[in-house]
Amino acid sequence: MSGPTPLSRDVVVVGGGLVGAAVAYGLVRQGLSVAMLDEGDVAYRASRGNFGLVWVQSKGDGLFDYARWTRSSADLWPDFAETLKDEVGIAVGYRKPGGVHLCHGEEELEEVELRLKRLHNQAGPDGYEAEILDRAELDELIPGLGPEVTGGAYSPHDGHVSPLYLLRALHEAFLARGGLYRAESRARRVTPDGGGFLVETEKGERIRCGRVVLGAGLGNRELGAMVGLDVPVHPLKGQILVTERAAPFLDLPTIYVRQTEEGTVMLGDSHEDVGFDTFSKPPVMGDIARRALRSFPVLRQLRIVRAWGALRVMTPDGFPIYEESEAHPGAFAVNCHSGVTLAAAHALRLAPLIAGGGFADTLAPFSSRRFDADAHQE
Ligand SMILES: Cc1cc2nc3c(=O)[nH]c(=O)nc-3n(C[C@H](O)[C@H](O)[C@H](O)COP(=O)(O)OP(=O)(O)OC[C@H]3O[C@@H](n4cnc5c(N)ncnc54)[C@H](O)[C@@H]3O)c2cc1C
Repeated sequence: MSGPTPLSRDVVVVGGGLVGAAVAYGLVRQGLSVAMLDEGDVAYRASRGNFGLVWVQSKGDGLFDYARWTRSSADLWPDFAETLKDEVGIAVGYRKPGGVHLCHGEEELEEVELRLKRLHNQAGPDGYEAEILDRAELDELIPGLGPEVTGGAYSPHDGHVSPLYLLRALHEAFLARGGLYRAESRARRVTPDGGGFLVETEKGERIRCGRVVLGAGLGNRELGAMVGLDVPVHPLKGQILVTERAAPFLDLPTIYVRQTEEGTVMLGDSHEDVGFDTFSKPPVMGDIARRALRSFPVLRQLRIVRAWGALRVMTPDGFPIYEESEAHPGAFAVNCHSGVTLAAAHALRLAPLIAGGGFADTLAPFSSRRFDADAHQE
């Protein structure tokens, strides 16, 4: 092939969002030479538009390995946040006061209670630490709840973080350990090449590598096909509103309302199957605001100062995809819809597996081959 000699790295990570950056950081921690490529500002980036929960209590219904994996990440989070601070001086604002799913009305409470029962059953002897609180118990935990709140689910393992500081810290920590970062560098082709891979960017740069990790969010569908990986991800829009700053009134995060360290209150979030549309839509914004007000009437005094829509990276069953290509070993796909929660596990557990040669049994339940099996049963 003509052109300048390609750069060479042990691993190229495609995607510089929370998933790609956490894995890339984890890989340089393992002593590997790593290049991380990201698209420009036109990119769809869930990592810059999310709610910032490190959330355990609802995860894993139907695939308990996911509950365990999520919990392991939550357990790693306190040290992970400290490590990022030590390495690059960025406090990501991680706090773990426990979290609550507030329910309005008996129907929602019953639904949440049933999910918890199923999770308790699936956990077996491992146990599952989350419980239903009645209204009186909630009042002790959270003052100022609206009259429509009937109860809720509480888990001590839930917490929250500033997702933007997290993204920044992961990038800085990656660079501080010698990682090569290319912004505005969309990977347009990944080609299996002599037992490794050649990654070409739209700017014409070429990087040779022994392994390639596709952490490109919704971009993984297209990139995966180049290396024999079937990555059936699709967008699911979420809208978020943010209020002006207020005096602290909410110590612990709830699934739809959380107060940030800076004092703003985030109100979330919708689940809209509308393709690649990221616009804020007044009717949905109204629903989000009304639900938040039913939980916390005090919010009525605050003005909304920001609003946005962003696209979740969803798999068909909502569980992560961690897959190594059978046709081209050394090519990995990493996708999930809880990249904040799982950042610690991606950096400290998943990346070492890639560095060590493969995903091993630990991550086998998350293979995308589970979708082939579903297809065969139909
Ligand atoms: C409204 C909303 C609320 C959420 N709330 C939470 C929450 O509270 N807690 C939680 O854990 N998760 C939450 N999430 C999910 C979380 O944000 C995502 O799981 C996470 O951001 C996914 O990160 P990602 O890196 O896979 O994808 P993205 O953030 O979409 O990043 C993908 C990156 O890949 C790059 N890319 C794509 N194609 C290419 C290419 N060809 N070459 C180079 N680069 C490429 C893009 O530039 C982009 O930067 C939420 C998401 C949304 C939308």
